[in-house]
Amino acid sequence: MQVIHTPDDVFHHTRSLLLQGKTLGLVPTMGALHPGHLTLVRRSVSENDVTVVSIFVNPLQFNNPDDLKNYPRDLQADLRLLEQEGVAVVFAPSEAEMYAKKPLVALQFGRMGQVMEGAFRPGHFDGVGVVVSKLLHLCQPHRAYFGLKDLQQYLLVKRMAQDLSFPVEIVGLPIAREASGLAMSSRNARLSVNGLAVASQIFQGLQQMKQLWGEGASPDETKMAGKNFYSSIAGLRLEYVEVVSPDTLEDETSNLGQAVAICVAAYVEGVRLIDNLYLHPKTP
Ligand code: AMP
Repeated sequence: MQVIHTPDDVFHHTRSLLLQGKTLGLVPTMGALHPGHLTLVRRSVSENDVTVVSIFVNPLQFNNPDDLKNYPRDLQADLRLLEQEGVAVVFAPSEAEMYAKKPLVALQFGRMGQVMEGAFRPGHFDGVGVVVSKLLHLCQPHRAYFGLKDLQQYLLVKRMAQDLSFPVEIVGLPIAREASGLAMSSRNARLSVNGLAVASQIFQGLQQMKQLWGEGASPDETKMAGKNFYSSIAGLRLEYVEVVSPDTLEDETSNLGQAVAICVAAYVEGVRLIDNLYLHPKTP
């Protein structure tokens, strides 16, 4: 496994692999890898000759300096995991290497970028757009893999690739969960045992909303039930719960049995966690 630290080196290395006719998969991450990341890595390894995993805690996408400072980092442990997975290349640049000059360009995603995460983390998706664009240009993959855990990010990256004709297939993969239902996340490492138990209630709330939605509850009734559930959980502070169209992220206004995404963001022990359930249309 080759560990590369500079943008120039990763560009030349991936370019030479492409010239040898290899197919390339890219898995962008911020490190502190867990089994959720590894589902993306395994899929890429199975579908491409060469997998590049990037590990970069991108300061541009953090609106909260404490969140950036406290973000878990363990490059050596990550490298050991990736070696075992058969990853060919790890790209782990420093901030100075990635942003020799602070980018002037920022990407705007219209309304889809202003709701939910965009509303509560101003500037977040500008930073995601810049870093994902740079990684796609530097690594030149055929396919890039994203988790539906960050549903809004996946949808926006997919639209960015379409709108700007990036020559890449954006692949979205399901949320990997702990046995408790808690969505795996690097940030879970910052939770105590009790915090983990509280955080697993996020999934319980989603399950209750799914049940109501399946029984025909309206979007408002579904959201209200979620808000009531979460407000009853000691140690959990809800930021938002939304019932949206999974394609446009517009609020749903009715329950006609269509595909829907129920998205939640909440704080537990000062750690911000997000989760969602993607509900497929009912089959008659
Ligand atoms: P991160 O390191 O948090 O930026 O995540 C890197 C990639 O892994 C993103 O595409 C995430 O959506 C994805 N990811 C993170 N957690 C999970 C999970 N529990 N299940 C599936 N994908 C995940």
